[in-house]
Amino acid sequence: MNLILKATKFSALKHQSQKRKDRKTPYIIHPISVAMILAEIGGIDDKEILSAALLHDTIEDTDTTAGEIEIEFGSRVRGIVEELTDNKLLSYAERKQLQIDHAPKLSKEATLIKISDKISNITDVINERPPEWDNNRCDEYIDWAEAVINNCHKVNTPLENHFYNLVNSYKLK
Ligand code: ZN
Repeated sequence: MNLILKATKFSALKHQSQKRKDRKTPYIIHPISVAMILAEIGGIDDKEILSAALLHDTIEDTDTTAGEIEIEFGSRVRGIVEELTDNKLLSYAERKQLQIDHAPKLSKEATLIKISDKISNITDVINERPPEWDNNRCDEYIDWAEAVINNCHKVNTPLENHFYNLVNSYKLK
């Protein structure tokens, strides 16, 4: 429990100046949502996996280093967060393609967080679509997320069912 609270505080501080794509929701709502999806839908109670979920965007989107995560949360959490970090030196298109290509290589822990991350993001696109996103952009995002998850190992049936139910309900609209 302490590790999870510590990760919540660490992530909230690191993301403190950032907002979600709707430009009003504090960013920290997203990693908290990902951890809640893992716990409530996926039934995950491993405190290192839940902490890694809270931290999953810190290296990619803030000044956090892998070494910092290791010192504060240990090498297992560091490893999971690193697996989930896109290389920002690459173009947007390259990063999107790499997520598809690397999906089968992810560890079970990283795969669990990857699918919960996509559930959180798709739920946002459906419920609070970013102001500048038109239908096409939303369709493309959902198709891409589906391609990533199709390539992941199947590790948690409730999470996978929830993901595909969301995608299918979006497509039926
Ligand atoms: Zn995320």
